[in-house]
Amino acid sequence: NIWFAPMGSFLSTLKRAIVNRSKRILGVTLLLLGLYRYWTTRRWPKFANQYDYIVVGGGTSGIIVAARLSENPNVSVLLLEAGGEASDFRISVPFLGALLQRTTQYDWCIETVPQKYSSKGLKNQVSFWPRGKVLGGCSCLNNMAYVRGNRGDFDEWADKFGCTGWSFRDVLPFFKKAEGNTIPNLSPEFHSSDGPMTISINEDTNPCSIAFVKGCEEIGIPKTDINGSNQLGVSITPVNVEGGQRDHTDRCYLRAVRSRTNLTVLTYAHVTRVCIDGNKRANGVAFKLIPSEGMSLAQTAKLPEVVVKCSREVIVSAGSVHTPQILMLSGIGPRSHLEKSGIRCHSDLPMVGQNLQDHLFAVMSHNTNIPTLGTQSVVLLVKTVFQYLFGRRGPLQSNFVESMSFHTTDVRPDLRSRGVPDLQIHFAPLSIPGPVGMLETRNNVNAIDNSATFPYEKWVADGFSFLPTLLHPKSIGEITLKSGDPFEPPLVNPRYLEHPDDVRTLIEGFKLSEKIVASSAFDKIRGWRRPDHLNPHKESSDEYWEHTVRHHAVTVYHPVGTCSMGSDPEISVLTPDLKVRGISGLRVIDCSIMPTLTSGNTHAPAIMIGERGADLIVNGSPYKASDAKSKL
Ligand SMILES: Cc1cc2nc3c(=O)[nH]c(=O)nc-3n(C[C@H](O)[C@H](O)[C@H](O)COP(=O)(O)OP(=O)(O)OC[C@H]3O[C@@H](n4cnc5c(N)ncnc54)[C@H](O)[C@@H]3O)c2cc1C
Repeated sequence: NIWFAPMGSFLSTLKRAIVNRSKRILGVTLLLLGLYRYWTTRRWPKFANQYDYIVVGGGTSGIIVAARLSENPNVSVLLLEAGGEASDFRISVPFLGALLQRTTQYDWCIETVPQKYSSKGLKNQVSFWPRGKVLGGCSCLNNMAYVRGNRGDFDEWADKFGCTGWSFRDVLPFFKKAEGNTIPNLSPEFHSSDGPMTISINEDTNPCSIAFVKGCEEIGIPKTDINGSNQLGVSITPVNVEGGQRDHTDRCYLRAVRSRTNLTVLTYAHVTRVCIDGNKRANGVAFKLIPSEGMSLAQTAKLPEVVVKCSREVIVSAGSVHTPQILMLSGIGPRSHLEKSGIRCHSDLPMVGQNLQDHLFAVMSHNTNIPTLGTQSVVLLVKTVFQYLFGRRGPLQSNFVESMSFHTTDVRPDLRSRGVPDLQIHFAPLSIPGPVGMLETRNNVNAIDNSATFPYEKWVADGFSFLPTLLHPKSIGEITLKSGDPFEPPLVNPRYLEHPDDVRTLIEGFKLSEKIVASSAFDKIRGWRRPDHLNPHKESSDEYWEHTVRHHAVTVYHPVGTCSMGSDPEISVLTPDLKVRGISGLRVIDCSIMPTLTSGNTHAPAIMIGERGADLIVNGSPYKASDAKSKL
């Protein structure tokens, strides 16, 4: 048939073309899937079965320890980190850091046990604690405020707790060793420009944050270098931001030395215990390599355990929550508690996990008529993105808490007499609707929904927040094991606000905030205060602020003290050279070593501790066993 023949050949050509194209598409798809699988499959570099030093936890302090120890090419160092690489852009862009909270990929997502005296505005009175689970640890998630603390904090460690080598004079060189200061006109007695971590001031500080500084000055609070000779006063916040990017410890300490042949870094390596031999010596570390995210306890239990031997020292730097957990899993801690979890006790140290101290803050927010970090203007948001993309400037390089002040109050005459503040006020040019301001978002999973009581029609996005902060809590908590499973989070009980003085300090903080916001510096930008419709008390009364504190105060993310150092074995876990009592070849180097909280944010102290601790290993310690005190 004259018509069907060409039609038939056309159809068969078409069929062949479709089959060929489909094959090609299938081939390309399979190739892409293969590449995706290759890129997303976790794999690990070759590692030896023995190292001179093993550092557990590649967080803020741990990275510094590994970087400093591996400066000696004759020693081998293994760094084990449970999280992955810090390559996510949300880590680099300062303003986006908060988005990492509650991502199980980067955050341990710790929750406290229900609190008796605090957190009443949160579901089940449970408070959420983000902790960094990534190379760089919390330095990748934090707000980058660079605050060293008060001279009196370190002198107290030395004088009261017998921590030889930790007085302010002793630790200042290690703060300076880490610091790459770029802020002009600071005293060289306290600052250095030679260290790896860049410290800067945000050049695009929001006018509200500047008003905070001016408002403080107006009511007699002086401007000061909060990391200099006198901490008491107000300042724009110094930050560890370099060229508009977060300068976390992975970026400024590890990346440049990662190629050292004597340094091995294993990510996704979850340490399960430190191995202790019959002579009570730490002789290795056991860990599991985690092939993928989101594994259940039943699945992680089936993963094979790897043991790597250690010839000199194991250093645990897993942070204030996980360091005590790892010690207890290794048989170091309160004997009866360990035995209840089926763990053989190698060193009976009742203080492991005890002495937990944390900073707390709550919020007072005002609306404002000028653009802030919470702006909803599309034009400004587009401008913000362009400003950052083409110059690393603008609101995206903000660390939120752009200014801050330090004060003594009548509640703590003991601290005032030593010039040590008991109150800090963080100031953020940001607010969102809701009686608890920004905290509601931060704790969005936990906050009790009170939106029904909030007049949203009055909402404007721009606002600013005062965050009075308790610096030296009298309420002391603890961390204990929930079980002997290393993948089960420990029980965290900070016992927030158990001591009434802690509430009183925060009430003083709100009253002072009210004075500052009433200053003329805020006249042109002060909108109405965000109301708390669930608060039954007369606004601004002590009862009103106590209600706010007990309902809405949350962690400032600064837990410390759970493996504290000291010269008295009855109240410390470590000797002042950071050696674990009763076990040789084992040290702890991170925020858990602090006997008491420092007067301010704890990142700079964690860095100093990393530097100081590494130096104790390399150069020895001024502490002698004969310095030990039997009782304080
Ligand atoms: C959201 C947030 C905001 C903060 N803001 C500020 C701020 O603005 N300024 C400031 O000074 N401080 C701030 N801090 C506090 C400060 O960042 C921390 O105190 C400090 O970084 C803690 O250092 P670290 O070395 O003790 O612990 P981390 O940095 O937490 O390091 C511990 C490391 O150990 C790893 N690890 C834990 N368990 C295991 C295991 N079993 N196996 C292997 N690895 C393990 C963790 O993944 C982590 O990388 C903030 C903290 C947070 C969470």
